[in-house]
Amino acid sequence: MPRFIRGIQTSAAPRPAMGLDPPDKPGDDGNGGAERHTMTTPHTFALRGRTLAFRDDPFRVGPDAAVETCDDGAVVIADGRILEVGQASNVLARHPGVEVDSYGPDALIMAGFVDSHAHYPQLEIIGSYGEQLLEWLEKYTFPTEIKYSDPQYARAGAETYLDGCLANGVTTASVFSATYPASVEALFEGALERGMRIVSGKNMMDRNCPEALRDTARSGYDQSKALIEKWHGRGRIVYAVTPRFAVTSTFEQMEAMGALCASILPR
Ligand SMILES: [Zn+2]
Repeated sequence: MPRFIRGIQTSAAPRPAMGLDPPDKPGDDGNGGAERHTMTTPHTFALRGRTLAFRDDPFRVGPDAAVETCDDGAVVIADGRILEVGQASNVLARHPGVEVDSYGPDALIMAGFVDSHAHYPQLEIIGSYGEQLLEWLEKYTFPTEIKYSDPQYARAGAETYLDGCLANGVTTASVFSATYPASVEALFEGALERGMRIVSGKNMMDRNCPEALRDTARSGYDQSKALIEKWHGRGRIVYAVTPRFAVTSTFEQMEAMGALCASILPR
């Protein structure tokens, strides 16, 4: 069972969805602050055990050069950011007196996994009989997603999903919510508390779905914009503008989403 040091900013932050860059944060230099912190602070500690670190792009330098493993490695963390990873003897010598949490030889200390596509409201229909996609949506998915208009129900579902991710080593995920802004807020609130990087957005559908799940080009635009302003860049949260797919979004809705993205993207 993986254990997690929650909210640690690793050097390999995923690309923001739709090109929306979170606002720059002080001290976020894109390499985990490794160049800035050289002094051991009271909030510094180390993990010791087998480590696996990703040093470069495997497509550019080849997999062997991109990955570094140490049988006796250490990760030094200060104020929630990784300072360095490497051979324990070398790394710990540079941080004398640092508190060390040893995991022993049977553990592997590495960055969290990234799930690039999930639907958190569908957790409770996993294993439903496999129809064709459209029948599956009508029979199982849409009736389930309607329940996520209730903020409390959504919050419970979000927590089950997020805790399930952490229990399986997933610390970053791109996740569909339901059409209701409350379903997005429930997910983001839970992610913020857990220090997870979650990419999500209000689902948009203005045709071919039950009335209770339907929005319009206008309401989809307004609700998405309000959610972006409230959530994008908070903690490790990234907002994704999320029309469900062509079957459930009119051309008018897709155009409205294009206009929303164009109004936000840097020129
Ligand atoms: Zn999907």
